[in-house]
Amino acid sequence: MTRRANGKRYLGNTNTKEVHDLDNEQPQCQISKIIVAGHDVYFDAHAQAKAAGYDNGHWCLGNSTR
Ligand SMILES: [Zn+2]
Repeated sequence: MTRRANGKRYLGNTNTKEVHDLDNEQPQCQISKIIVAGHDVYFDAHAQAKAAGYDNGHWCLGNSTR
């Protein structure tokens, strides 16, 4: 079961500037809340999210730089 949107693996939260890996989604990510709030943006590649200034989600990606 995957939540990928339009085949894109990474979901960025425009409010917190964190990126989540939808293939490793954890309950703590609260992806549903991000989408309901309209804060979701999608990336094909992790590098794209990093280039856009997004930090790693703590639960699904780890190695947060904050
Ligand atoms: Zn996450």
